[in-house]
Amino acid sequence: MTTQLPVAAAARVRRAAWREIRSDRALFSTAMVTTMLAAGAGLLMPLLLGRIVDAVSNTPGRAVIAAVDRLAVAILVVTVAQMVLLRYAQLLCYRFGERAAARIRERFLDRTLALPGALVEHAATGDLITRGTADVNAVALMLRSMAPQIFLATIQLVFLMAAVLLLDPMLGAFGLGALVIAVFALRSYLRRAEAAYLRQATAAGDVNEVVTTTAQGARTVEAFGMARLRIRAADAAIAESRQARLSTLRLRTRLFPVVEIACALPVVGVLLLGGWLHRNDMIALGTVVAATLYLQRLIDPLNLFMMWLDQIQSAMAAFARIEGIGAARTTRADLGPSATAEPADDRIVCADVHFAYGNSRVLHGIDLDIRPGERLAIVGPSGAGKSTLGRLLAGIEAPDRGAITVGGVPIAKLAPDRLRRQVILITQEHHVFNDTLRENLRLAAPTVTDAELTTALAAVGASWATELPDGPDTLLDGQHRLDNAQAQQLSLARVLLADPHTLILDEATAMLDPTTARDTERSLAAILSGRTVIAIAHRLQTAHDADRIAVMEDGRIIELGTHTELLARRGSYASLWRAWHG
Ligand code: ADP
Repeated sequence: MTTQLPVAAAARVRRAAWREIRSDRALFSTAMVTTMLAAGAGLLMPLLLGRIVDAVSNTPGRAVIAAVDRLAVAILVVTVAQMVLLRYAQLLCYRFGERAAARIRERFLDRTLALPGALVEHAATGDLITRGTADVNAVALMLRSMAPQIFLATIQLVFLMAAVLLLDPMLGAFGLGALVIAVFALRSYLRRAEAAYLRQATAAGDVNEVVTTTAQGARTVEAFGMARLRIRAADAAIAESRQARLSTLRLRTRLFPVVEIACALPVVGVLLLGGWLHRNDMIALGTVVAATLYLQRLIDPLNLFMMWLDQIQSAMAAFARIEGIGAARTTRADLGPSATAEPADDRIVCADVHFAYGNSRVLHGIDLDIRPGERLAIVGPSGAGKSTLGRLLAGIEAPDRGAITVGGVPIAKLAPDRLRRQVILITQEHHVFNDTLRENLRLAAPTVTDAELTTALAAVGASWATELPDGPDTLLDGQHRLDNAQAQQLSLARVLLADPHTLILDEATAMLDPTTARDTERSLAAILSGRTVIAIAHRLQTAHDADRIAVMEDGRIIELGTHTELLARRGSYASLWRAWHG
């Protein structure tokens, strides 16, 4: 069962955008002022050209040459100033964008790491990956490339409109009036765009999800002949993604022609009206030229808007999805006072524990008192809830009702660094990080010394570690690739260094690989000694060797006692044992 990660609401996205601006206030304001100056300088050019036209038509004789020369020099100065300001403004905007993108990336990582393990496990992998890669990239691209241009274009638009109105209010109003069409078209577009682009981003995440999970589970898909099912699921996801893309494309194809026409109308209108006014001596030719140039200049920033509109909407949807991670429930900070509480002792107690995956109830009232130092085996038919109880005991999931505590503190509420000193679930997942051997081990115990690392590796039989070219500084996964058995030993050394008092061993998942089982078992023996061990036993030999055995059926513990006691009871365990032994 997968959970959909939340998407931030519009208000939260706005707050997050403000937070970005505020956290780099000085740079942002300098960038803004410089951009305004650059846009302002751009306004002088049409005005000066208009003056030249007026000078040529009104100044008599040789004086015209001197006047035009003066104006030409002014145009040169203004052009150079505008270029310099523009370059500087863009540099500042890029810098702001890069810094903001870096902050967003870091926060995304922090927030993802702070999510409760169970939520990450239940969330669709493709969704989280898409948010961390494509979505973050879309926002970074917007901040780096689009935002500076859009910002400049907005200021240019505002300034140009103001300039044309100031130049000649009637002519200006007439010209800008035609733009109202564009405004209406844009409003109708924006009303639909948010939902459409969010749908497009979600659909992209779903495609990623289907493809990732199919690739990850390729062997299972093959083994169960599920290929056609998976292809059908992928087809459905792709069809939805195509539909979503088509719907945003439809929005754009409706908008673009309207805006194109709306952009051309003001120029045509002003030329017609201005020409008529000038013929009747009601306006200077220079003013008509300047007004036409201003309106002509509106086209560029407007086109830029249209060009980026698609990406802006995509980036906004992406930002909402990234921010959504922050809206997810129970982050580390929300763990409450227990996150820093110190357990009074090593005693783990389950009291009336109930648990369900969504609507499917798995555990129905487990009471279990685990004695420090004991070996407890949990046996029972497949689907009885043994692995689920193991995950709850390891603090990966929290009970829906009842409590599982260690030394009086709820296990699932312990902060990760405290939790791993109490109890660790040993699974088949042996992730080797692309880092040095030392860093791979320090994950489990940040303050550990090299000597302790060496001892831990030796204890789990990882003799290969002494032969690495750069010792603990050897890059694993790059310089030196670990095989499966070595990766297992590495993760067992991590457990040893974390030094929890209780280990949970799920035989089904801890020892799947028969080629490495013997090595693992030897390494395991080294780390089990001196700790409380709860073994989810799939082999009755494990149960036989344990101090106590808990028999589970349908999410309940139906028998609890030593091997001899349970045999004497002639119950479920006794018949299992007889069947196996016989
Ligand atoms: P056991 O370890 O005894 O075989 P499990 O704890 O693995 O039992 O499973 C108990 C029940 O919970 C089963 O019906 C199983 O299908 C269901 N289950 C296990 N894991 C999940 C999960 N992640 N999501 C939904 N149901 C699950």
